[in-house]
Amino acid sequence: MATDADMATIDEALIMTALETAREDAVRVREILAKARELKGLNASDATALMAVESPELLEELFDTARRAKDEIYGRRMVLFAPLYVSNLCSNDCVYCAFRKGNPEVHRRALTQEEVAQETRLLIDQGHKRVLLVAGEAYPKEGLDYIFQCIETIYDVKTEWGEIRRINVNIAPLEVDEFRALKACRIGTYQLFQETYHRDTYAKVHLSGRKRDFDWRLNAISRAMEAGIDDVGVGVLFGLYDWRFETLALMQHVAQLEERFGVGCHTISVPRIEPAVGAEVSEHPPVPVSDNDFRKLVAILRLTVPYTGIIMSTRENPEMRRETLALGVSQISAGSRTNPGGYGEEDYEMSQFSLGDHRSVDEVVRDITEMGYIPSFCTGCYRMGRTGQDFMDLAKPGLIKHYCEVNAVSTFVEFLEHYASPETKAVGDKLVEKVLNEMTPAQRKRAEPLVHDVRGGQRDAYV
Ligand code: SAM
Ligand code: SF4
Repeated sequence: MATDADMATIDEALIMTALETAREDAVRVREILAKARELKGLNASDATALMAVESPELLEELFDTARRAKDEIYGRRMVLFAPLYVSNLCSNDCVYCAFRKGNPEVHRRALTQEEVAQETRLLIDQGHKRVLLVAGEAYPKEGLDYIFQCIETIYDVKTEWGEIRRINVNIAPLEVDEFRALKACRIGTYQLFQETYHRDTYAKVHLSGRKRDFDWRLNAISRAMEAGIDDVGVGVLFGLYDWRFETLALMQHVAQLEERFGVGCHTISVPRIEPAVGAEVSEHPPVPVSDNDFRKLVAILRLTVPYTGIIMSTRENPEMRRETLALGVSQISAGSRTNPGGYGEEDYEMSQFSLGDHRSVDEVVRDITEMGYIPSFCTGCYRMGRTGQDFMDLAKPGLIKHYCEVNAVSTFVEFLEHYASPETKAVGDKLVEKVLNEMTPAQRKRAEPLVHDVRGGQRDAYV
């Protein structure tokens, strides 16, 4: 049972003072970058010093260090997923979101289970294996059971060559018992963004509904972990308040989780506010994050928490996505629609926000393959129970690479065999040969039989 001492808190004064006194200091920055190269992470004071970097030369050194860290830990693989919006019913009024209760411009709907199955089939037919289930904060008459039913429906859809093998969820905060029930549905990551860690700003942008309660949301991740969900994702909606404050506050939040549960978060999401119908604030974010600051924040996160995945959605345009992949991003969505039923129709009017990347999964896969990344549809760790502390124990000494690159290749081959266009298959097959040739003998010994089996018709081959 959680006590008051277990409650997450953000020390705003500490962050403000640190930011006020931060100045660019080349000597200190280079010391920090040397420390960052050891891949053991950075503390808040280090991160604050990196945030003050402005001169082009030092900035390039920061980016270069982030690129190397990314490469060292994550290698060439890039995990792909798609969001599946099941409902836009919502009882909150978040001024930046099209689904907010007071928005008359959005037609409300919660997909029927048949519609959920149909959307799932469309995603499977594009080659996806991982989905992020997303819903507004109100449920149809079934209550929270509606979400549980959706999860069951998605897992139950099987096509000739595919199925969804991992469902992550981004839904409203729950009570501990409800989180336990959610875990029993075999979810992957429970993901929740604090939106802003700045209490006053939070109050200004969340006008009504349960979400108005800052602490209820801040402690949701702890409740999920108390319920046994050891794979959690956090995030900030960038553009509401100073990105430097948000990043330092997020670090405080993660450090408190680590202290209390022995493990922090599995992923960090970095959405920037995009224009949304009927949500004026989204057209003019109060504290927009420039492209340069956005690159900087991804690089700093990469060095600060080197083993935590960074997720980039299709909110960003293809150029920004390409750049930030190298700086630290390890998972991207592709071919996304952000309205319930969006994969079966072209009704962008009802989207939660407008997308920066409209390309199909096949196009995204081809693009990142040409950049040398191995698109990964792997869901192996989660199904082998390599989550939470177990995952970190493997990840920190670099062992996860032995599984990940092999599984990335076998799931990529599965994609190439069954879902890729001829152009994508051609560039993909070439990359697979190159990667196999460059593997260590031990990795190659694991990967080659899997690739052989998948080409021979086996699916879902992983170690
Ligand atoms: N309703 C739940 C909640 O608020 O946590 C989950 C779903 S909500 C649709 C998922 C996320 O979308 C929110 O946490 C928010 O960060 C993001 N979002 C809302 N409006 C946005 C916008 N205009 N641009 C980019 N992201 C947005
Ligand atoms: Fe509802 Fe979530 Fe949108 Fe807020 S962000 S209005 S809670 S769907």
